Amino acid sequence: MSGTGTGADGAHGHAGGADVAEFRAEVRAWLDAHDLSPAPGLDFDGQVAQLGRVRRALYDAGWMRYGWPAEAGGLGGPAVLRAVLGEEVATRGLAEPGIYSMIEVLAPTVISYAPPALAAEMVPRLLNGDEQWCQGFSEPGSGSDLASLSTRAEPRGGDWVVNGQKVWTSLAQFAARCVLLTRTAPGHAGITAFFLDMDSPGITVRPLRTMHGVDEFAEVFFDDVVVPGDRMLGRPGDGWRLAMDLLPHERSTCFWHRVAHLYSRLDRLVEETGESGGTDDAALGAAYLALHTVRCRSHATQRRLAGGARLGPETSVDKVLLAGAEQRLFDTARDLLPGVLELDGTPWRSEYLYSRAATIYGGTAEIQRNIIARRLLDLGKE
Ligand SMILES: Cc1cc2nc3c(=O)[nH]c(=O)nc-3n(C[C@H](O)[C@H](O)[C@H](O)COP(=O)(O)OP(=O)(O)OC[C@H]3O[C@@H](n4cnc5c(N)ncnc54)[C@H](O)[C@@H]3O)c2cc1C
Repeated sequence: MSGTGTGADGAHGHAGGADVAEFRAEVRAWLDAHDLSPAPGLDFDGQVAQLGRVRRALYDAGWMRYGWPAEAGGLGGPAVLRAVLGEEVATRGLAEPGIYSMIEVLAPTVISYAPPALAAEMVPRLLNGDEQWCQGFSEPGSGSDLASLSTRAEPRGGDWVVNGQKVWTSLAQFAARCVLLTRTAPGHAGITAFFLDMDSPGITVRPLRTMHGVDEFAEVFFDDVVVPGDRMLGRPGDGWRLAMDLLPHERSTCFWHRVAHLYSRLDRLVEETGESGGTDDAALGAAYLALHTVRCRSHATQRRLAGGARLGPETSVDKVLLAGAEQRLFDTARDLLPGVLELDGTPWRSEYLYSRAATIYGGTAEIQRNIIARRLLDLGKE
């Protein structure tokens, strides 16, 4: 383990009583002693490789395993330890925050629904950086209306044969596995989930370029792809329930480190506006307040998780707050740093453009507001 004498063995105390402040101090000391900084100017392939490097180092040192259950290769302890680690990684800019978050989106659901031996075999490969995974939910005609998805899985002997298409599948071209939703019968109860190997014959991945110029997601085509029956997540027809368990993570826990990343950008904005003489305390204050509000909301989500709650539709509030705060921050940068988005090659431009996706991925802002209105406020249909 590390030269600081902490980590997988030395930090075992975190698995129980969870002295969060001590954990954070030990992570910081370890990161101070182990430089995992990325090389400057990495392209997206380089960022994915850097993510693997960071995860591998943090896994070997034990840090990446805290907050995950022992049955899936973790060292136990509360989920807040994952948040603390993510905050430290994001604050230091060690990994691109969007792709870092895939663990928070996918691993909790795989742990809950996969046969235990499969979760024990696979989750460590995600935590240790050996593999990337992707989420095969959206289809060309089924995004907001996810339950209308039509990618078919049909039984054949003990296997299933998948045909159809997914779209906007983040990291598909890098992924070794996919959490895939398929249709096995009509209606919500006819959706079945699989944990699919992305090197299975019959899968074609075509990368798609985002507005900020990155091949982050892809179209994925399935042509008679054979999936072994023991790769089903849950039972036939459990796919909708799985999605309802996964999406709340995509709308809350996966933003813990993103908020820290956004704070680091706010700090930079304060610095740069100070240098340019363009400071506007009211605008910067509003951006800070929006970020602080998401962070407070994240604390509430943490407390519910620590109390054993299952996350649900209330996480749409986290998602609305995060997307609003992110867009406000980059709108503020656009307003206070004239020309920087349009004329300079700084990261402000690509981050501003990517912030527009915050009201789309994980379910659009309109859909989150519908959920809040109907399921939290009981306001009925529009
Ligand atoms: C950066 C990024 C990464 C993504 N990564 C993934 C991924 O890894 N895996 C994956 O499966 N998907 C992914 N997605 C897809 C994402 O989940 C969908 O884009 C999203 O759910 C919206 O679906 P859609 O694009 O089909 O839009 P549509 O559902 O067609 O919506 C179009 C517009 O209509 C509005 N609308 C639709 N229905 C209603 C309604 N009932 N009430 C009010 N307004 C409505 C929407 O808010 C939106 O403004 C990603 C998207 C982005 C931008």
